[in-house]
Amino acid sequence: MLSKKLIPFISAAVLSGTAFFMPANVKAAAVQQEYINKNRSHQALSPVGLVIHDTDNEGATAQNNRDYFNRVYVAASAHYFVDWNTDIQTIPENEVAWHAGPSANHRYLSLEMCMPYGHDISKFNAMYQNTVELAADICKRHNWNASNIVSHYWCSMTFHETDHEDPIAFLKEYGKSWDMLINDIQKTIDRQPTSIGTQQVSTFNTSVSVLQAELNKQGFGNLIVDNIAGPRTLEACPLLKQGAQGDITKWVQGKLGITVDGVFGTQTKQWVIKFQKDHGLVSDGIIGANTWRALLGL
Ligand SMILES: [Zn+2]
Repeated sequence: MLSKKLIPFISAAVLSGTAFFMPANVKAAAVQQEYINKNRSHQALSPVGLVIHDTDNEGATAQNNRDYFNRVYVAASAHYFVDWNTDIQTIPENEVAWHAGPSANHRYLSLEMCMPYGHDISKFNAMYQNTVELAADICKRHNWNASNIVSHYWCSMTFHETDHEDPIAFLKEYGKSWDMLINDIQKTIDRQPTSIGTQQVSTFNTSVSVLQAELNKQGFGNLIVDNIAGPRTLEACPLLKQGAQGDITKWVQGKLGITVDGVFGTQTKQWVIKFQKDHGLVSDGIIGANTWRALLGL
C-alpha cells in the first residue's frame, strides 16, 4: 500500500514511452515502461534495495493503477506495478517514488503486487510468479541478492514513518509467507545466467517522438513528430548494424535496456540478436524493417 508523501510536489510533464526490457535470463515477463506524469518527485535515487508492497485494491490491474497515478495527484507512487498479466514501470529507477515514508523512499525502489478480485488463486499465482521474476531481475541488475528486498511492514517497523503492514496479510491469504517469497526470489536469482552482460534501466528517453525528431534531423524522413509509430515512421527507419554510431543507435540501446553509448558494437549486436530471437525474427543482429517493426511495437 502506498503512503502519501508529506509535502506535495507539483510534477513537470514528462514524456512517457513504452520500452520492453529483456532480462538476462531466458524467461521473464517483459516490463512495460509507462512513466506517469503526476506523482513524480524528480529527486535522484541511488537505490540500496527494493520494497515489496501490495496495492490493497482488489481487482485493479497494473494498468489501472498506472493510469490512476498518471491521472490523479495523490502524493503517492511506486516504481513497478505487477499483476497476473503485466509488469508496468511507472517511475525511473533513479528517481525517488513515494511509497513507504521518506527514509525508505530515499533508499529503496518499490514494487506493488496487484490484488486479484476475490480469492482468485490462479491470478494470484501468476502475479506471484511475475513478482518473483521481476524482483530477481532487479536484483541481478543491481548486483543485489534477495536480502536487499524488504516489506513495507519492515519499513514501518524500522523507520516508524508509516504504519502499513503489507504485504504480509495478502501473502498469508494465499498460503505464502514473506520468507517464502524471498526464498523464491533468491532461487530465481541463482538460476539466472548472465551470458551477455548486464542490462540496466536507461534514463534515455525512448519515446517515438525522440526517434521521429532524430530521423527528421538526419534526413531519413519528414515526419510529423506526434509520438505515434506508424507506417511512415517505420519506413523512415534506416538499416542499422554493427559499426553504426549516433543518436538512432542510442534510441535502440535505450529501447533494449542496455548501456546507451551510441556505439553499435558487438555487445549491442548480441542484444539485438537476443531481441530478434525473443520476437521470432531472423536473428542476424541487423536492424531492418522487421526488427524496427518489433522495436516500435507495430
Ligand atoms: Zn505498502
